[in-house]
Amino acid sequence: MDILQNFIDGRYQDPIHKNYLDNIEPATGLVYGKTPNSCQDDVELAVNAAQKALPQWQAMPLEQRADILYAIAQGIESKLDELALAESVDNGKPVSLAKAVDIPRAASNFKFFAHACSQFASESHSMTGTATNYTLRQAIGIVGCISPWNLPLYLFTWKIAPALAAGNCVIAKPSEVTPKTAALLGEICQAAGLPKGVLNILHGSGASVGSAICNHKKIKAISFTGGTATGAAIATQLAPQFKKLSLELGGKNPALVFADCDFDDTVEQVFRASFANQGQICLCASRIYIERPIFEKFKQALVVKAQALIPQDPASPSSKMGAIVSKVHLDKVLSYIELAKSEGGKILVGGAQVNLAGRCANGYFLQPTIIENLPNQAQCNQQEIFGPVITLQAFDNDEEALTLANDSQYGLAATLWTNNLARAHKLSEQLNTGIVWVNCWLLRDLRTPFGGMNHSGVGREGGFEAMRFFTESKNVCIKY
Ligand code: NAD
Repeated sequence: MDILQNFIDGRYQDPIHKNYLDNIEPATGLVYGKTPNSCQDDVELAVNAAQKALPQWQAMPLEQRADILYAIAQGIESKLDELALAESVDNGKPVSLAKAVDIPRAASNFKFFAHACSQFASESHSMTGTATNYTLRQAIGIVGCISPWNLPLYLFTWKIAPALAAGNCVIAKPSEVTPKTAALLGEICQAAGLPKGVLNILHGSGASVGSAICNHKKIKAISFTGGTATGAAIATQLAPQFKKLSLELGGKNPALVFADCDFDDTVEQVFRASFANQGQICLCASRIYIERPIFEKFKQALVVKAQALIPQDPASPSSKMGAIVSKVHLDKVLSYIELAKSEGGKILVGGAQVNLAGRCANGYFLQPTIIENLPNQAQCNQQEIFGPVITLQAFDNDEEALTLANDSQYGLAATLWTNNLARAHKLSEQLNTGIVWVNCWLLRDLRTPFGGMNHSGVGREGGFEAMRFFTESKNVCIKY
């Protein structure tokens, strides 16, 4: 039995009260380990360690700080196979996906911010002849980073790397559903020479340790990625505490497919955008709007691809679709499929749990599911399902496509599929989302702002946006 520990003050430690949660492998439905369910007392230990470490970390020359971050990236790369397997076992994602995307991206996050910290500059404003202003950007101090289960190490490091690069000490909590790669990150940081106490990794549930991190008075900023309801609860709690808060929340992302698109490539890419990681990426397309002249043809092409995508043991190198992350989540996704039927939706393909043979007989597998005939106001078109389920609707012109796409409380990402340049620019301006991809999906430059509008969040991650979030600005005005 794999029993995880917290990583506090540079060493692995059991949770103070020895409370644990089961760690379940979604591909088998079996408990394979235990995760600490830490609490307020563990947070206290971590905060004390961070406080001791802070002066040295903040005083460290930037080049040395960058070298350590770079060494962490290399440590992640050197453990590619081990981390990819751990991610796949914990999350149910195909090991090939973890190896090609999740783990390399976690390394890139550290490399990127190792460079970013030496390039980050602040502003100066001259009041000609009278005074000069310059703006200091100083580390906040101790910050909290809380991440979800869908891209575990990828999103965990997307927060930790900029927080450290900006000179903060970090108390970080991965999802209790997928804690394993975060646990392994501790030893990678140790080996890379990260001073003890600079990064502290606590495991446990949101209600127990997550909430204790958010509420700790010495933790001055919280960077959170997760569900919209959780984000709202945290925002409500933190409002009277005046903490800096970054919220990356849910989505219900539209894909707008126009008749002039490059048909074959668009089918390929929209399919990937819909079902990659079993549809459990906040950026996945879930509402597919197709211009009427190509609706039937495009629909058939998606259906054929979905029929061919058979969930498989994620440990198999040939697996292209793994398991849903947990039984609770599988049941939630299945309940949306039932809801879709009751709302008048027609299931074109999928819609049912898949029972595999052998070691995966009790795993949480679901067919890729495509639904049509649902009006835009149907709950399955308005609420985030966060699984391998998409809906199709036809539209007749640009205005209608835009209206349908913007008819949502969310505003994370949209994709546009067209060869009409003017339309692409115009709609990109008009879509109420933080990210628009034109003729591509998930093409990422880590310098760009990342995040959503409305119920998809507050603030942006990525590049200098993240460095700004993890620093306080202070203006100094010098009169001549
Ligand atoms: P979740 O909100 O249930 O949990 C996210 C994290 O918050 C976990 O670590 C959890 O333990 C913790 N948490 C829960 N309650 C808490 C509380 N009261 N105080 C502090 N921490 C608490 O989300 P999830 O189910 O793990 O992840 C799926 C959601 O994340 C989806 O809605 C998805 O869209 C969203 N997501 C958003 C982005 C983005 O960048 N916008 C990226 C990935 C996932």
